[in-house]
Amino acid sequence: MILIIGLLLAVAAILILRPWERRSCRWRQDNRKLADGRVLFTCAACGAELALPRGREPKTCLAGER
Ligand SMILES: [Zn+2]
Repeated sequence: MILIIGLLLAVAAILILRPWERRSCRWRQDNRKLADGRVLFTCAACGAELALPRGREPKTCLAGER
């Protein structure tokens, strides 16, 4: 019985965390690294860096594009 409950908890944790989805990027705007008028965003989750024109924000994660 405990085994079944543990299995259910594991499945629930996998479904909630969804490790296969890499959309959990937490982009932070880095104001110290301005270059060419663009804004540099760094992801606190995977460490990806992305430079975008001012006023835009990254919406996708770059973790899988390396
Ligand atoms: Zn990321």
